[in-house]
Amino acid sequence: MFKNYGSFLDKIKEFFYKSKKENKIINKSDIDYVEKVLLSADIGTDITIKIVSKLEQKIKEDEISIQELKKILKDEILSIFIKKKYSLYERIKKSKIPYVCMIVGVNGVGKTTTVGKLAFLLKNNGFNPIIGASDTFRECAIDQLEILANLAKVPLVKQQINSDPASVAYDTLQSAKSKKKDVVLIDTAGRLHNRVNLMYELSKIYKVMKKVIPGAPHETILILDANNGQNAIEQTKKFLSFSKVSCIILTKTEGTAKGGFIINIMNRFKIPIQYLGIGEKINKLIEFDDEKFVNDLIKF
Ligand code: GDP
Ligand code: GDP
Ligand code: MG
Repeated sequence: MFKNYGSFLDKIKEFFYKSKKENKIINKSDIDYVEKVLLSADIGTDITIKIVSKLEQKIKEDEISIQELKKILKDEILSIFIKKKYSLYERIKKSKIPYVCMIVGVNGVGKTTTVGKLAFLLKNNGFNPIIGASDTFRECAIDQLEILANLAKVPLVKQQINSDPASVAYDTLQSAKSKKKDVVLIDTAGRLHNRVNLMYELSKIYKVMKKVIPGAPHETILILDANNGQNAIEQTKKFLSFSKVSCIILTKTEGTAKGGFIINIMNRFKIPIQYLGIGEKINKLIEFDDEKFVNDLIKF
């Protein structure tokens, strides 16, 4: 996962280690360098300013070592991560009615793949999911989802291409109720080029769902491609302008060097990251662990 993940912080590591300065005391010009690296890494200006002013304050009071610098970086970055009080499993278990999750995001980020992965994961952990194919727009989306549903051994509710996505969602929720499913995953079409249409379509799906299951959808899960960097921030803003977002799943994290923007997203939007996609196959979805993320990031 994130094999080049820490690459932006590797610059800091090299700076201190190559010059064999492991135990050296940090000075103002070292902090300026750290600032430059953090700024170039997309982690966001306000969090950079926070870290830098903390470091400057510290060196004014006392000498600090590279170990202390490391600790400050870790603590500051960890402090912006939001932990969900309950895991997705617990949230589903607590619900007495089918727990409905809408999967949203722009084209190509990995929504359909992630719906399949989530169904597979949930099924293998004792849940009884059902999937709704509400992306009725893209030519092969329904077939793609059907293959995944079969792999996961999870039922799929579908209609014809170009049918009304809200109608598919309605059928799916009805089916979830009558078959006593505990969790519903709704795949959606991802278009942002026509926001008015998309907003209309999403709000129509929401309205129809509530008629079948109270409070549905219980979660709106935003899918972001880890390689989209700054663009993912714009996508998040757009989705938040017309829908609540309960959590984020980051896809294609297995080979990206753009780890920095994750910190930026956390800091700006305060939306927890729930899972990471780490490959194309159906079993390539893992729970996000913020401490592991930060430890991987600051391995020097
Ligand atoms: P959608 O348009 O948002 O539904 O995106 P798709 O689910 O169709 O995925 C688009 C492409 O991304 C497909 O080729 C997927 O196999 C690929 N993909 C999705 N998740 C991951 C991931 O975690 N890692 C990698 N390497 N590829 C992924
Ligand atoms: P236009 O450019 O605004 O006319 O619309 P599009 O080219 O995006 O789509 C043409 C038609 O396809 C629309 O009038 C809708 O009936 C249908 N359509 C477009 N997008 C979607 C979508 O996301 N879901 C569904 N179900 N239908 C869509
Ligand atoms: Mg799709």
